[in-house]
Amino acid sequence: MQRPDESAVRGSPASLPPEAAPPATPARPQDLPAVDRLLRLPAVAPLLAEQGHTLVATQARALLDALRERARAGALPAAELAEPALVQALQQRVAQALAPRLRRVLNLSGTVIHTNLGRALLADEALAHVLACMAGPNNLEYDLAAGGRGDRDGIVEELLCTLTGAEAATVVNNNAAAVLLTIAALAGGPEARAAGRQEVIVSRGELVEIGGAFRMPDVMAAAGATLVEVGTTNRTHPKDYEAAIGPRTALLMKVHTSNYAVQGFTAAVDEADLARIAHAHGLPAASDLGSGALVDMAAWGLPAEPTPQQKLAAGCDVVSFSGDKLLGGPQAGLIVGTRAAVGRIRRFPMKRALRVSKLPLAALEATLRLYLRPERLAQDLPTLRLLTRPLAAIEAAAQRLLPAVAAAVAVRFDAGLAATQGQIGSGSLPVDRLPSAAIAIAPRQRKGAGRALDELAAALRALPLPVLGRIAEHRLLLDLRTLEPRDEAAFVAQLPQLAAALA
Ligand SMILES: *Cc1c(COP(=O)(O)O)cnc(C)c1O
Repeated sequence: MQRPDESAVRGSPASLPPEAAPPATPARPQDLPAVDRLLRLPAVAPLLAEQGHTLVATQARALLDALRERARAGALPAAELAEPALVQALQQRVAQALAPRLRRVLNLSGTVIHTNLGRALLADEALAHVLACMAGPNNLEYDLAAGGRGDRDGIVEELLCTLTGAEAATVVNNNAAAVLLTIAALAGGPEARAAGRQEVIVSRGELVEIGGAFRMPDVMAAAGATLVEVGTTNRTHPKDYEAAIGPRTALLMKVHTSNYAVQGFTAAVDEADLARIAHAHGLPAASDLGSGALVDMAAWGLPAEPTPQQKLAAGCDVVSFSGDKLLGGPQAGLIVGTRAAVGRIRRFPMKRALRVSKLPLAALEATLRLYLRPERLAQDLPTLRLLTRPLAAIEAAAQRLLPAVAAAVAVRFDAGLAATQGQIGSGSLPVDRLPSAAIAIAPRQRKGAGRALDELAAALRALPLPVLGRIAEHRLLLDLRTLEPRDEAAFVAQLPQLAAALA
């Protein structure tokens, strides 16, 4: 089959009329070439040969439509219809259509685990394992020893059990899915409905909103469970849980208040007490840890974050946490716990809809394996490497890069060094700050300073490797904790482009 303008392409090469109008004159709609005429230009032939007819013709049509629109408005300089200009515009459109929308960026925002910027960075080992396993078929659900069907949970279950002390483990799409599935399987499904046990008891102080549409009361409803709130915003006691337990109770749950802190006159029931109360009534206890850290962060001088192993040791039947927060792996929801509870969760039909795919599973396996060598973790795991980067090293980087940055922004800005407070991010450890160092860029002129800063931020975002800083106190800060030495050259190499954009 032949497409309408394919024959035209194969026809004799044509060129546009040489007698182009003076550049200042606006072009008229009838001055525009037809699509096939544009495609037959000899200068377009290499583009067609490389990218094929479909893409180039689509973009040629779109280009001419856009130009026609402007010509109708009398806003198209005739010069844009000159052959080289048209060909260049077409090349740009084709390149634009092929350019990826998901791109690497440099996160100089000061927040190490930034949800908008893809959260945890994957370790080299994780990237290598993804590449190695995804280039061909793999044993995702195949037991190589037995020579038969396997279970994808089997890829990481042993590792997770070793690292957390759990009896069983399963993995789903993210922690939101883990929480939804846990509640649905233990308190929301047909089994719970038949038993008349659908109530989940949660402290009022723990009804968190994580961001987006993830709010604990809504998750309960979506899972088919009935939320029973106990205690008050600031204080919840064991007797509050005791009083709420009845024949309809299915589950006692604790939610880590990961993105806020309740301070002052407060009381909460810890997991050990919660589990004791639950078990005394023959009920399970679950804990949503949010971030969760698989190692004691305090060992690296970082603020302590609860670990799943602590919560399991305290008696929780199920603990769930994220793969891409402090753990430093891919997006995933990790569920660890007793054989009975995890078994119920695994058998629940919704599990299939929430299951993890082979790409993150490969990355997760390699990431978890790094935890078998905790002595090397701060080197091998990028998240921990960045969080433990010595202040002196960050300051040295700021000093090293300052002259080049200062020169690039010199037209309108002054650049200097600044001591800053960074964040761990992703809702982990919300009140703790990480001392860091930044290059601070301030507009030289007071007047229009806000606009100048916005323009600077936009110019940084428009670089080939977009740079994201943060604006604070009338300055743009480029926090250097998260610029790893191996990325410095790429950062510096595009500073001339920044200078050109600001000029
Ligand atoms: C982050 C978080 C979640 C959601 O985890 P995702 O992996 O982002 O889906 C749930 N609960 C708590 C307490 C969290 O901090």
